[in-house]
Amino acid sequence: MSKPMVAIIGKPNVGKSTFFNYIVGQRLSIVEDTPGVTRDRIYADSNWRGRDFTLIDTGGIEPELDDIIHIGMREQAQMAINIADVIIFITDIKQGVTAADTEIATMLRKSKKPIVLVCNKSDNFGEPDPALYEFYNLGIGEPHPVSSTNALGIGDVLDAVYEHFPEKEPNEENKEIINVAIIGKPNVGKSSLVNKILGENRVIVSNVAGTTRDAIDSYFENENGKYNFIDTAGIRKHSKVNENIEKYSVMRSLLAVERADVCLILIDANEGVTEQDTKIAGEAHEAGKGIIIVVNKWDEYEKETGTLENYKKQVYNKLSYLTYAPIIFISAKTGQRVDKLFGMINKVASSNSLRIPTATLNQVINEAIAVVQPPTDKGK
Ligand code: GDP
Ligand code: GDP
Repeated sequence: MSKPMVAIIGKPNVGKSTFFNYIVGQRLSIVEDTPGVTRDRIYADSNWRGRDFTLIDTGGIEPELDDIIHIGMREQAQMAINIADVIIFITDIKQGVTAADTEIATMLRKSKKPIVLVCNKSDNFGEPDPALYEFYNLGIGEPHPVSSTNALGIGDVLDAVYEHFPEKEPNEENKEIINVAIIGKPNVGKSSLVNKILGENRVIVSNVAGTTRDAIDSYFENENGKYNFIDTAGIRKHSKVNENIEKYSVMRSLLAVERADVCLILIDANEGVTEQDTKIAGEAHEAGKGIIIVVNKWDEYEKETGTLENYKKQVYNKLSYLTYAPIIFISAKTGQRVDKLFGMINKVASSNSLRIPTATLNQVINEAIAVVQPPTDKGK
């Protein structure tokens, strides 16, 4: 199910964003307008030679202060190493090899991840630029000359990336596994929920076979099916990377969403839907994922007659674009209704992967138009 992840890294100003925008430019301009969702994207889906992949511009997490750029770069590289299947390392041919390049290259070499080395700003195509040869010294393979502003050499880079993609559908059995991302702001109870679920189910392996990225996934089976909980263990353990950087944790949650079939959006019952929740939910919605709204800490919430129905109304009122998503009230602490989640996950996963034949769709739309005429605006 999940697409290969390709991360773009490199020091500031080498042209990472220019390269990223060239590849995904067209798709970026059609991002849907959902309330509360940032338009400033750091990842996007793309396709090369029939293969879908997710391209991540780690430049999006570059620190703005000069004195922490150095630390930021190391973190950026480490993150790319952790999550990517293939890394595109961009350098600037006009600057030559710098100390920062050498440092990143050393980290990359140790990681044993597939690397594609790019020498950007190779604007004069034709004769190979003698400056290119110096980049062999980085010890991470052949440098690819590219001019991002002139769109030269980019196809060759993508060909090289493509060669490193993991085998398609490595394991037939993996198809039945439902990838679930548990997302929500800090302290809503994500880890408590994972712990509750994992505590009551037999955890078989900690990593899905056939994926090359060392994501922190928890795979388990129970009588309802096979599930892979994405990236949630990482929230329990302390990652090597400094998680205080807010953008990094945002990115993490985005990537969990990207790989998921179903997203559980956790809301704290005591707080109701906050602006941050709206943002997080909007990302999952925009990515077209199956969504379940999970109101957690229901044990703490004071109830009277009709409380649940009223609460539901309030949630859908705030998340008006999510009326298709079912809602459940749980307590990760006491375990209340946690077992009901699985039936819901199965249902949402199967309706989200449902394919409706064009003929049926046309028929339904024609009938709907016959019943209610669509409104016109200035005669259109
Ligand atoms: P980032 O910080 O690595 O994301 O770099 P940017 O994409 O923001 O680019 C930094 C600067 O380099 C910008 O002024 C770009 O216009 C310029 N740039 C990017 N790619 C090229 C290129 O292929 N050739 C030249 N000459 N300039 C480029
Ligand atoms: P995370 O940051 O989203 O992973 O949140 P945690 O799982 O670490 O939980 C944050 C706090 O909320 C902890 O003190 C938990 O004990 C508490 N908590 C989590 N779920 C529940 C719940 O269902 N009911 C109550 N009363 N507390 C909860």
